[in-house]
Amino acid sequence: MRYAILGDIHGNLVAFKTVLQDLEKRGGFDKIWCLGDVVGYGPEPHACIELLQQFDHVCIAGNHDWAAVGLVDILDFNEDAAAANQWTAQQLTEADKEYLKSLPLITSQENFSLAHGSPREPIWEYLFSVRAAEENLEFFSTPFCLVGHSHVPLIFEHSKDGVKLTRLEDSATMKLEENRLIINPGSVGQPRDHDPRASYALYDSNAGMIYHYRIDYDVEATQQKMLQEKLPEFLILRLSHGI
Ligand code: ZN
Repeated sequence: MRYAILGDIHGNLVAFKTVLQDLEKRGGFDKIWCLGDVVGYGPEPHACIELLQQFDHVCIAGNHDWAAVGLVDILDFNEDAAAANQWTAQQLTEADKEYLKSLPLITSQENFSLAHGSPREPIWEYLFSVRAAEENLEFFSTPFCLVGHSHVPLIFEHSKDGVKLTRLEDSATMKLEENRLIINPGSVGQPRDHDPRASYALYDSNAGMIYHYRIDYDVEATQQKMLQEKLPEFLILRLSHGI
């Protein structure tokens, strides 16, 4: 089976479609593992949910998904994120809202656990440090774990020498072996590692391999739509810089 691992799409339909086209060029996929935050920030939240639902997929809840349906308080968001989230909530159909409310916080698929922030605290924790990754190892029982939320592609590898943190570079490949891993494939719709290209991963379970890719998409097309919807300026600008 080939799994497309897509995190933090954030209502960016142009980026989402470009990633799907890229996957097709690479031989396609059987199923999507979506790491949450399908909506929030971007200009096409409804269309992103609709497109995701056209595929065999599993998806977990992110903080923006929950905020858009009132399950977390947007007072926990900064001003721009809160404004975009209020706008997002207005774009969603009742069916979209039911879908977002139905998403689990954590799920196990094959050898992987999927959680948006972290297995310890799926909605809010950002996994950036080796220490936090180490502490999280006891919160999932599968060998491997996939997270999103920070929008920064990276990998924590647990060997007998402890946990090592590595940035996931474009076209990085890794063979799954006995070391436990926590992998963040980066963000499809709002990368934050100073690289504006969409970021995603592909897992080929027959080969036991994970592949990470960065791809250009039409950033300006998304920005134009955000401008039309009068979404906050900083949220528009950041897409150009990947911040
Ligand atoms: Zn996010």
